[in-house]
This record gives sequence, C-alpha cells and structure tokens, in this order.
Amino acid sequence: MPEQKRDYYEVLGVSKSASDEEIKKAYRKLAKKYHPDMNPDSKEAEAKFKEANEAYEVLSNPEKRAKYDQFGHAGVDPNFGGGGFGGGFDMGDIDLGDIFGSFFGGGFGGFGGQQQRANAPQKGQSLRANLTVSFEEAAFGCEKEIELNRTETCSDCQGSGCQPGTTAETCPDCRGAGVVRIQRGGGGFAFSTTAPCSRCRGTGKLIHSPCNSCGGTGSVRKKQRIKVTIPAGIDDGQAISLRGQGNAGTNGGPAGDLIVGVRIKPHPQFKREGTTVLYEQPISFYQATMGAELEIPTIDGKVKYTLPAGTQTGTVFRLRGKGIPVLQGHGRGDQIVTVKVQVPTNLTTEQREALRVFGEAMGENISEGSIKSFFDKHKKKK
Ligand SMILES: [Zn+2]
Ligand SMILES: [Zn+2]
Repeated sequence: MPEQKRDYYEVLGVSKSASDEEIKKAYRKLAKKYHPDMNPDSKEAEAKFKEANEAYEVLSNPEKRAKYDQFGHAGVDPNFGGGGFGGGFDMGDIDLGDIFGSFFGGGFGGFGGQQQRANAPQKGQSLRANLTVSFEEAAFGCEKEIELNRTETCSDCQGSGCQPGTTAETCPDCRGAGVVRIQRGGGGFAFSTTAPCSRCRGTGKLIHSPCNSCGGTGSVRKKQRIKVTIPAGIDDGQAISLRGQGNAGTNGGPAGDLIVGVRIKPHPQFKREGTTVLYEQPISFYQATMGAELEIPTIDGKVKYTLPAGTQTGTVFRLRGKGIPVLQGHGRGDQIVTVKVQVPTNLTTEQREALRVFGEAMGENISEGSIKSFFDKHKKKK
C-alpha cells in the first residue's frame, strides 16, 4: 500500500500563500533539526528529513509549486520531474558543513543539486579550515597559505573516470538516468517509485577501462597549498569563503567552497573592540603631576603625545584614525588610551625623604612622627 503523503505545505509548516523566503526558512529549520548527522540511527528523523527535502524541492521551484497547487502530489510525481526521490535518496551525499556553511553565506545555491539524480552535476563538498593571524595582520590584512587535503578533478581523464582514449558506455539498465522505476503493489494499487540503478550505482554509465590515475572515480585526493588573502579589518571569529576551492564536483558540477575561519592571536598590549584599539598607558606619578612628552605605541608604530600637567589616573584620550581599518570600507577607527598612574613602591631612604618633604610642602600631616606611630600601631597588634 502506498503511504498517505502529507501535504507539502503542512510538512514545512507554512501557509499556502507562504513566500519563497518563508518556505526556505521553514525548510532550513527542519533540515537542521532532522539531519541524519544530528540524529544518528533515528528512522523517524530520516523519514522527516526526506519528507522535508521532498516538500522543499517542490515548493522552492515556482514551476513545480504551481503544478502542485493545481494537481497535488500527482502534478509533481518525481518520476516525471527529474527529481528522482523515491526510495533512492542517498543521505551520504549531503555534507552537514555544506548546509550550515551556506546558511552563513546567505546563498543556498547548489543545494538543489544534491537532491537530483545521482548522475546530475553536483557541487563538490565545501571544506573548512582555520587560520590564526596576529593582531596587526588582522588590522592591515595579509597573505597566508594553508595546506589542505582535497579532491580535485583527475587531470588525466578530465573527470570522466575513463582511461584516456576510451569512453564510458551508457548504462543499458537505466539508459543513463542513474535511477530505475520499480513497480510495487498490484491490482488497483499498483504504483511506481524510483531507486538508484544498481548496475551503474546511480552514475548512469559503465566504465570498462577505468582511468589508472583515479581508478575510475574521476577525482583524486591531493595535498594543496592555498593562498588566502586576509582582508584588512577582519575580526576574530569571522570567516572568508573561497569559492571553488573545496572538493571537486561530480558529473561536471562546480567545486565546493573553502571556508576559512579566522582567529586573532591576543596582543600583549592592545585589545580590540570592533575598529577601536584599546590601550592602557602607564605613567609615573611625576609625569602625571608635571606633564610629559609620551611616546605611545599604536599599530602604526609610536606616536608622540603631550600629556598635560595634572593628569589624573583613569583619564582617557583618543588617537584619531589609529585604530583598525573598516573591513571592506573606508577609514579607520580610533585608539583609546587610558592613563594609569603607577604608585611608586620599594622606595629608597632618599626617595622617601624627598616624598616626605613633598608631603609637608603640600601641607599634609605626615611628619616622621605620624609615620612612626603608624608603624607602632602595627607592632602593637602583633
Ligand atoms: Zn582519472
Ligand atoms: Zn544504470
């Protein structure tokens, strides 16, 4: 008995008048929730995942959606639409990274390809890598290289999988479609579904003399050094997407992307908040009182700053344009300098005497006597 198919709108939990955006959103939510990688060994999740995929495949396509609205499930039978769902949806084809990656990238392109017949062009898997850069490298941008293992289209056979000079035979069982129709049920309930062709394993072709270099797969695994241009102003935790630098596609599909997550090494002196550089400048009690010509470190090197006499600890000043460049924009942030007065410690007798004289001159009641009584008090406590 064929199972009763649920309404596609009901599956995605959207109304019949839902916009493309709403449909996409609802689908992403379900795909994340029921993805097999997140629900290992759950038949129920797998079924829900398939169901959501099927519903999305139809409702995200204006032509199919119109047919579905008019004729229901019969209007979008995957056997006619080239969707090829049936029982032959291969979970292994979907890479979780690819799905989540495209969420961040905004684009959802290429995903539809994952649901098509096994011999349709498919975008390659996207890869992830991490890169750590210095504070300055993040500020001004830099060129880096990363080494990664990826699959590349076999150069000997151009991805065909056939030994040069030979060609593949179109699979006679499925006539190159990669899927076969299977009749099920009987009598009044006969129906057909599709399954991947077992003879050609869904590829639609039979390779009689496989390419020596790739063993007939059409792709080879290679260690590659990839140049990554880090743009000026990138912040910790941001990622750069390098289109087409991921794994090779199949059946002529484009290569996946390489997503490089960027981490910034902490700086011993500077902190960063967006485009603002935060810096704490230690000054002596004398400098704070008398004023001073300071040399303040910035990411551009030292800059001169005239500290006015009588600067209190905690005073903040701003060095305009000495911060981080705006990512993919113009201008730079500022550097904010907080002054910290260092209270002198471990004074020599001479220094203490000088300070006592100073204290007296300030009219403070810190005669030698009061210092003595201070020490006496502590002695008595013991
Ligand atoms: Zn090859
Ligand atoms: Zn076949």
